[in-house]
Amino acid sequence: MKRILGLKIDVDTHEGMKKGVPRLLEDLGRLGVRGTFYLSMGPDASGLAVLQLLRNPRFLKKMLKSNAPALYGFKTALYGTLLPSPLIALSFPDLVRRIVAEGHEAEFHAWDHRRWQDGLPRRSEGWITAWFDKGLAAFRQTTGREAASFGAPAWLLDDRALRIAGGRGFAYLSCTRARTPFVHAAIGIPELPSDLPCFEELGVRAAGEEIVSRLRGGGVHVLPVHAEAEGGVWNRPFLDLMETIRGMDYEVRTLGEIAAALTPRELPRRKYELALLPGRAAPCAV
Ligand SMILES: [Zn+2]
Repeated sequence: MKRILGLKIDVDTHEGMKKGVPRLLEDLGRLGVRGTFYLSMGPDASGLAVLQLLRNPRFLKKMLKSNAPALYGFKTALYGTLLPSPLIALSFPDLVRRIVAEGHEAEFHAWDHRRWQDGLPRRSEGWITAWFDKGLAAFRQTTGREAASFGAPAWLLDDRALRIAGGRGFAYLSCTRARTPFVHAAIGIPELPSDLPCFEELGVRAAGEEIVSRLRGGGVHVLPVHAEAEGGVWNRPFLDLMETIRGMDYEVRTLGEIAAALTPRELPRRKYELALLPGRAAPCAV
C-alpha cells in the first residue's frame, strides 16, 4: 500500500507568520519536504479568545492544558482587545513569496481567523461574502495568483459559508476532519480532509503516538500543523515526529499534488456535520 503524507500548515497569528513560518521553512528545507501553507491574510484578533475563554469552560480547559500563553505569547493574547490587530500574511509579503519560491504551496485560510472561529453562525451572509472578498483580494495581492484551495478556520463551516466558498473557484477544499476524501454534496467540490489529530488537541505525546499508530497502516494522510505551535514551542517534538515518519517510508507531498490525484467522480458525495472531537474546545466540521 502506498504511503503518502501531506502537511497542512495553518498560519493563524501574526507571531506564527513572523517566527513560526521561517522556522518551518528552514526545517522543511533541511528535511527536503514540501508543505502546504494555509495563510490568514488579515487582522490578528487573537485577543478576542480571552473573552471567549471567559464564556466557554471547555476553551479555558484547553488553553490551560495546551499551555496557550507560552504557545501563543502574551502580546498575541491582547491583539484585538487591548492592542490593535496587526495584519498577518499581509504584513509579510516577502515571506509569502519565500514560501512559494522554496517550492511549497500557499493557499487561503482566512481574512480574520478569530472572528470566523468565534462567531461564524452569528454572522450575516454579507459579512461572510465580504470576508472572502477581502481575504482573496489580499491573497491575490501577495501571491499574484488565485487561491486553489480554502481551509476553513478551526475547521468550522456552516451551509452559507460552504455555498459562498463554492462560488470562489477553488479546485478543492480542506475544511473538515474526516478519514477519507469526499465531495461536498452541496457544491460539488472535492474535500481533502485532515485525518490525523494535531499536537494541540491531545497533547504532544499522546498525539504523536496516535499519529504514528495511524500511519502504520499505510495509505494517504494529511497532518494538520500550526505555524505558531510546531514552528514555536513544539518545534522539537514536531521534528522528532517527522524523523519517525521518515523512518516509516512515507513520501511527503503537497496537498495540491494529493488533491490532483483524486478522481472526484469516484468519491462519495457527503454533507459535513459538526461534532466535538477529543481535545477541541468547539465543534468542527467532520
Ligand atoms: Zn487556523
